[in-house]
Amino acid sequence: MNISRLVEELTAWAVRKKLIEKEDHVYCRNQLLEKLQIADFEQPVSAAERDLHSIMEDILKWALDEGRIENDTVTERDLFDTKLMGVFADKPSVIASRFGKEEEKSPEQATAWFYEWNKAIDYIRTKRIEKNVTWKTDTEYGALDMTINLSKPEKDPAEIEKLKHQPASSYPLCLLCRENEGYAGRLNHPARQNLRTIPVTLNEEAWHFQFSPYVYYHEHAIVLKEKHEPMVITGDTFTRLLAFTERFPHYFIGSNADLPIVGGSILSHDHYQAGCYTFPMARAEAEETMELPQFTGVTAARVKWPMSVVRLQGDDRTEVKKAAEHILNSWRAYSDETAGIYAETDGTLHQTITPIARRRGRAFELDLVLRNNRTSSDHPDGIFHPHAHVHHIKKENIGLIEVMGLAVLPGRLKQELRETAEKLAGVSPESALYDGITAKHADWALKVSEGRRTASVEEMETLLQEETGLVFAEILGHAGVFKRDDAGIRAFQRFMQTIQQ
Ligand SMILES: [Zn+2]
Repeated sequence: MNISRLVEELTAWAVRKKLIEKEDHVYCRNQLLEKLQIADFEQPVSAAERDLHSIMEDILKWALDEGRIENDTVTERDLFDTKLMGVFADKPSVIASRFGKEEEKSPEQATAWFYEWNKAIDYIRTKRIEKNVTWKTDTEYGALDMTINLSKPEKDPAEIEKLKHQPASSYPLCLLCRENEGYAGRLNHPARQNLRTIPVTLNEEAWHFQFSPYVYYHEHAIVLKEKHEPMVITGDTFTRLLAFTERFPHYFIGSNADLPIVGGSILSHDHYQAGCYTFPMARAEAEETMELPQFTGVTAARVKWPMSVVRLQGDDRTEVKKAAEHILNSWRAYSDETAGIYAETDGTLHQTITPIARRRGRAFELDLVLRNNRTSSDHPDGIFHPHAHVHHIKKENIGLIEVMGLAVLPGRLKQELRETAEKLAGVSPESALYDGITAKHADWALKVSEGRRTASVEEMETLLQEETGLVFAEILGHAGVFKRDDAGIRAFQRFMQTIQQ
């Protein structure tokens, strides 16, 4: 393998992608030689125009052969190729100033430019994300977005809870900290030489805007506090979310809740997720709308959604914020024994909100999703959490993205659903399914395929995907504090009446 040729191909690729200028060509070549620990370079006669992935695959093979990478693992390969890509990443101030220039034209143009840059520099590993399996399932709540995630390892709630109580590691303090920008990484921490963040001011505090390396939807962004401080939902949260939508009106932005079980995967560092995408929940309609007389021009609606959503709308973002804070305080203290809702047990508080802000024309819209993290002997993982009978599909927390109607399902499901489909299409599925990795799906698969079985594996796989989407809708119902039956809707209405005071 001719490493000079590969270095030339990679540098020429970066020029073509406009990551660097022609004038930077020799300089960047020399930077690459240093990172590859080679002193010689022989100008190749010609270099092919290949895509990044195939050039990098060859460089990684060379690095393994030459002992620059010790073990052929994804972790070590990622540490190595990110170091090389860092050569082509402009310094943060240069990127931020370019973002500013684009933003003068329009916020849409700024985020679109930055998104393309993140893909080009391979911070967003497009090739890996393409492996995710995605589909849509029609339900009574509209079409839900389904993803089997093959690009990011999953964490279970116990691990998340454990991580919350872990002492902060020395540097960077966590995976989200802005100190990751440019960091070389180590075996237990990803390399971030090609990460760039854009400073943003929210509620007069320093925050940073960046993209998520695991894109679940268009322009999937993360907005993180400059200080490493824990997730907490307060009135300030609403102020920041609404301010962000004022600056980027084409984006939604939401926060995970601040309690274990109903929160996201990182509770130790305050952060939000944003993006240029319309989620199924944003399309869900109001079932009942009322005025909130205490807040000028603000309406509150109960939304047709399996989780319990109060939707605020108003043209004045300060009034919307005040209304949201009032509802947050009301909810934190609210109990309704007939609906199984207890604000606290034995001195532990259980209630919080998953908030999502967006613009609706001129108006500011804030969806407040009511959450409760109480557990019981029947539901030790959480009462308003996926129940045991659906754990074969998903047992992880229902975080912000799922709340909005996009299922992020564990990677194991790809193989499991495929094998389940094969057995359904084969002879005597009744016995075959109870063997191996399909055993946990057997009862469900037999029930949902009754009277619909064919010998086509593809048809059976489509059927299972559809049914998985329906299970996801059911899971969202488990996470809903007010159920969708008559008694649940009446209980929700009682809560809505209390917020009018
Ligand atoms: Zn942090």
